[in-house]
Amino acid sequence: MFEKKFDIPRAAPVRALTAGYIVALAIIAYMSLIIHYGIGEIIKEQNNRDLVYASRQLKLIPLISLNVNEYVDSKSSIVKGRLESDLSSLEQAYTEIFKNKEFGKGQKSETFFAIQVQESHERAKQQIDSFVGSVKNLLEESEGKLGYNNKYYKEVKTLIQGSLIQNIDSINIAYEAESLQHVRRLQIYQHVALVVIMVTLLLEALLIFMPLVRRVSVYADKLENLARTDALTNVDNRRSILEKGVKEIRRAKRYDKPLSVALLDIDHFKVINDTHGHEAGDIILKSMVEIFEENIRLEDEIGRFGGEEFIFLLPETNSHEDALTVMERVRKAVEMKDFRLENGDYIKATVSIGVAEIEASKDKSLDPAIRRADIVLYKAKEDGRNQIKIFK
Ligand code: GH3
Ligand code: MG
Ligand code: MG
Repeated sequence: MFEKKFDIPRAAPVRALTAGYIVALAIIAYMSLIIHYGIGEIIKEQNNRDLVYASRQLKLIPLISLNVNEYVDSKSSIVKGRLESDLSSLEQAYTEIFKNKEFGKGQKSETFFAIQVQESHERAKQQIDSFVGSVKNLLEESEGKLGYNNKYYKEVKTLIQGSLIQNIDSINIAYEAESLQHVRRLQIYQHVALVVIMVTLLLEALLIFMPLVRRVSVYADKLENLARTDALTNVDNRRSILEKGVKEIRRAKRYDKPLSVALLDIDHFKVINDTHGHEAGDIILKSMVEIFEENIRLEDEIGRFGGEEFIFLLPETNSHEDALTVMERVRKAVEMKDFRLENGDYIKATVSIGVAEIEASKDKSLDPAIRRADIVLYKAKEDGRNQIKIFK
């Protein structure tokens, strides 16, 4: 016990673990951002107005051509009105889709789809231009000129029967395919990120969090031990022994067992210090504790109460018989000992002891018993030292 070492673990591994923890958090944050922005991109892509306008075109063109037929047939002003409104919707979709577009420019990549879209657009652009122009011209014709032989009607028919719809459809397909490709890419990102996050969390728990907690708890234990221990003699310090005293009183009360304290003070310690030096005094203090520990019982506790004063907590011990036996053994062992100093000299030392029994039913702390023990310790000093007095 005397050789007990209080090596405090170095802080460096804790710092390394903390750094690892921060790195793991950064990886998780980064992966989460990738998923977040990936989803954002997909939402943007799905919101793609081009796709919306392209499919509107695809719906409007056959509708307009059906109405053109009906108009030529019926010359109805209602149909004319419907045609005008559909035509303006088509123009709107058409303007939006070709607006700010030189295809291929501003695209993120020259993907297969981008190129396909560009080609279809170029072809479709002229055809839609002609289609809109011909329908408009037809609408301006006087009633008498309307008929299946009308020049503008024939133009519309030729365009519809040609590749106009196919071109617009292929634009649509290309947009849809590109969207799908985005979704698939995100699905891959999502899976990879999820696996990376899970693995990082697992590694973090195993390699960082658990060792960190273990280290910190070892550190805390050691610090607590240090805070409870007297640095010179390695026995409990005053605070610790008083705390243990409170617990022992509770136990004594619960099991109705006696509990005694002994206050021990080294005789003429000042003389030892003055004659042989402070270091010699320290050596005596340490050797004394060794003697105490050799002569008390396993369940007894020792605390350094002050400079050269020690307190003994003696559970299941009444002051008159058992405490006297134990403390007499201690006193005698000190008396018999030749204390060896660093210079090789041997010196003698003695101790005086005051013993008092705790009244477990009344006392809440060791203080009253310590006061009683102190009174008889003073008597032991007065009566010539190197003896035990019991408070009665
Ligand atoms: P008495 O027999 O009446 O107890 O006489 P004493 O000289 O032991 O009593 P006193 O209380 O006058 O002196 C105690 C001395 O113990 C004074 C102090 O210098 C010394 N002392 C206290 N703590 C330490 C310590 O940690 N190391 C050393 N070397 N001396 C200590
Ligand atoms: Mg003293
Ligand atoms: Mg003393």
